[in-house]
Amino acid sequence: MKYDYIIAGAGCAGLSLLYGLLSDEQLQHKKILLIDKDTKKSNDRTWCFWEKEAGIFESIVHYQWKKLEFLTTDFETKFDLKQYKYKMIRGLDFYNHVLKLASKFTNVTFLNEDISAINADEKSAKVKTSKKVYTSKYVFNSTALFNPKITTKNSLLQHFKGWVIKTKTPVFNKEVGTLMDFRVHQNQGATFMYVLPTSSTEALIEYTLFSKAVLKEAAYVTELKNYIKNTLKIDEYEILHQEFGVIPMSLSKFTRQPKASKNIVNIGTAGGFTKASSGYTFQFIQKNTKAIIKNLREDKIPLKKISFREKMYHWYDKTLLDVLLSHKLQGKEVFSIMFKKLPPEVILAFLGNESTFLEELRIMNAVPIKAFLTSGLKQLK
Ligand SMILES: Cc1cc2nc3c(=O)[nH]c(=O)nc-3n(C[C@H](O)[C@H](O)[C@H](O)COP(=O)(O)OP(=O)(O)OC[C@H]3O[C@@H](n4cnc5c(N)ncnc54)[C@H](O)[C@@H]3O)c2cc1C
Repeated sequence: MKYDYIIAGAGCAGLSLLYGLLSDEQLQHKKILLIDKDTKKSNDRTWCFWEKEAGIFESIVHYQWKKLEFLTTDFETKFDLKQYKYKMIRGLDFYNHVLKLASKFTNVTFLNEDISAINADEKSAKVKTSKKVYTSKYVFNSTALFNPKITTKNSLLQHFKGWVIKTKTPVFNKEVGTLMDFRVHQNQGATFMYVLPTSSTEALIEYTLFSKAVLKEAAYVTELKNYIKNTLKIDEYEILHQEFGVIPMSLSKFTRQPKASKNIVNIGTAGGFTKASSGYTFQFIQKNTKAIIKNLREDKIPLKKISFREKMYHWYDKTLLDVLLSHKLQGKEVFSIMFKKLPPEVILAFLGNESTFLEELRIMNAVPIKAFLTSGLKQLK
C-alpha cells in the first residue's frame, strides 16, 4: 500500500485534517496523498465562526469582533460576546497557510485530479480518478460522492452573495459586526444581511436567504445595491471582492461512514458537519479534526462516534429546520424571538453545540411551543 491516508477533497475539511496531521509529531511522517480537482488558488469563500479560545488557525484570522448586533423591523440589539469572539478567515489565506506547511514535508503529495469513485475492502480503501486508482489504509472524503439526495421537501438552501466594499470616507464602526439584519423583504423565505466591517472604510456585506431555490444573479446584486444605498446610506464605493455560496440545510442524512466501511471516513459537509439549522460548518470541522487526530494517535479507527449530546443537537437542528420548511414560523420571527428573549451568548452557545442542558431548556421555553413541539415530535421518528 502506497499511502497511509488519502484525503479526497482538499477544501476546508481536507486541509484542516492535513494541518492537524502535520502539526502532530506522531503522525506528521505518515504518507499522505491529497487529491482535488481544484488547485485552491482562489479566494472563493470567507469563513466566519465564533470561539472562546485562540484556535489552531489564529495566526490567519483576518479580523475579529467582540461585539455584534441583530436588527429586525421592530427591534435591535447590540451585544458583547462575553466569552466568545466572532472571527473571520479568508479562504485563500487558509489554503496558502496549509499548503505552505505541507510544502515542507516530502511525505505529502498533492494531485490535481477529478475523483470518480471511492471503494473499500476489509483492509484498505481505493480512490479512482480520471487517471489512476490510489490505495491507502484510510480515505478521508469531503467530495459529494456519497451525499444524500437534496430535495425541496427535505432541505432548504442557504444561498448568498457577498461583496467586500471599500468606501471613500469612513462609514463603518469596525468594533461591531452585524450578524443578521432582517430589515429586508422576506418574499422568498428567511432573508437577512451580514455587515462585517474590517476597517472604517471596508466591510463584507452579504445578502443571505434560506429558501428552496437560488435566485438569478441580478436579484442578489439589486438587493445588495439597495441595501448599501438605502440602509447603509453609502453612495460611493468600490467592490474589492465577490463571493457566492450555496450551503445545504437538510433533514436528510449525511453519513460519516459511507459503504459501512471503517476505511472510508466522510469529513466536512459530506460527513454531516454543516449545521442543518444555520449552515455554519467551519468550527464543527475543527472539532471533528481534533477527534480524528486523537483517534489516529491512539491507533484507533479514525471515525468519531456520534455522542448522545450530538444526537440531541441534531434533533434540535432538525426541529428548527422543520419549523421553517413547513412554514410554521418565518425565520425572521424565530430569530427575533430568540434575540428578544435570550442572552445572545446563550444563543451562540446553542448554535455552536456548546450550550448546557439548562440553557437548552431556556431556549425551548422562549420559542412558541406548539410549532416546535409538533416539528420536534415529527423529527423524533
Ligand atoms: C462561499 C461560502 C462561504 C461560506 N461561509 C461560511 C462561514 O462563514 N462559516 C461557516 O462555518 N461555514 C461557511 N461555509 C460553509 C462551509 O464552511 C464551507 O462550505 C466549507 O468549505 C466546507 O468544507 P468542506 O471541506 O466540506 O468542503 P469544501 O471546502 O468545498 O472542500 C471540498 C473539496 O473537494 C473538492 N472536490 C469536490 N468534488 C471533487 C471530485 N469529484 N474530485 C476531486 N475533488 C473534488 C473541491 O474542489 C473542494 O476543494 C461557506 C461556504 C461557502 C460556499
